[in-house]
Amino acid sequence: MEILKSIEEMRFELLQWHASHGRHWIPWKLKPDGSVPKKKEKLPVYPILVAEVMLQQTQLNVALPYWENWMKIFPTVLDLASALDHEVLFVWQGLGYYARAQRIHKTSKALLDVLGDSDHLNPDSWPMDLESWMALPGIGRTTAASIISSAFNIPEALLDGNVKRILSRLIGSQKTFSKNLKQLWKLSDFLLDPYYPRDFNQALMDLGATICTYRNPKCVCCPWQRYCLAYHAGNPSEFPIKGPKKILPFSVIGIGIVFNDAGEVLIDQRTNNQSMAGMWEFPGGKQEKGENIESTVIRELFEELGINVKVAKKLVEFDYSYSHQKLHFVVYICQLISGVPKPLSSVQTKWVNPTELINYPFPAANQKMISAIKDYLLSFET
Ligand code: SF4
Repeated sequence: MEILKSIEEMRFELLQWHASHGRHWIPWKLKPDGSVPKKKEKLPVYPILVAEVMLQQTQLNVALPYWENWMKIFPTVLDLASALDHEVLFVWQGLGYYARAQRIHKTSKALLDVLGDSDHLNPDSWPMDLESWMALPGIGRTTAASIISSAFNIPEALLDGNVKRILSRLIGSQKTFSKNLKQLWKLSDFLLDPYYPRDFNQALMDLGATICTYRNPKCVCCPWQRYCLAYHAGNPSEFPIKGPKKILPFSVIGIGIVFNDAGEVLIDQRTNNQSMAGMWEFPGGKQEKGENIESTVIRELFEELGINVKVAKKLVEFDYSYSHQKLHFVVYICQLISGVPKPLSSVQTKWVNPTELINYPFPAANQKMISAIKDYLLSFET
């Protein structure tokens, strides 16, 4: 690759750009006193670990308030390891991809075994090699490399979405990400500045987030413009090559909101082998072929809880998209005819006062149902 002849210059130019244009305000990349770490200084590891797990599927501006709140509630790895599953999910609520919350919780417990009696606030007590980190739940190579290069300034290359995009454009890659991973890892490794890996990795991520963006990259401000094959080809936005568009499966979900005589509403908790394990939800499920949606609700509540209900009034109807599927929710107020709710396909069921729903972690789609329930109840008070 022609560009690799200029590697020293490329490192220097990227680091210079980062010094004046980088995002130097990211709190977990700073020392506890708010200053920028010097080359040999280490950073507290736990705040970086939390941030890196949050950033696996979430952009920085979205993750930041969650990170700030998390650090108030679980300020150390000890606090996180001793928290209950329910508490961890509750604090993660709204960030999505809930398996990450469970994995970082497990990781915190595993780290306590590694840290033993050593001072967990001292960065020197923490693992400093890629393999030890990658042995922990939910920590892949990029997350591990980002943690140790950020905390200890150790030269480990990473390959997150931003870095993949920059490098693919740089070499004018004609392959999709998934077909080019080996070459992109090699390139990230090769480009990494061995003396300033912390700044270099951060510079790459900042470049991807602010200049070499997915749409309309601002090549005129880019320190690597003269090396970039996609720029010279005149169509940088068309790189990397995109694979065929995935058509997401679509389902209609019927949900039953059931009240008891005390005005409490019925919720149940998802099992460990379901996505969003441990979260709470209103009972319901997928509409079957040829079934009307009211029948779906009646069938699902019988199968899920062993109760017979009468569908009374449609409460709300809305679409919700996940990364892997699109759902259309149809939510009904239901009247309990017979039966006592049993957790036939959930961990447990509960009757909860509607004002207490905020104390339970719910998937984001359920928040619309909670708002609709509040409006429905308010309509009786006016
Ligand atoms: S020149 Fe443009 S496309 Fe190339 S790396 Fe820079 S911002 Fe990205």
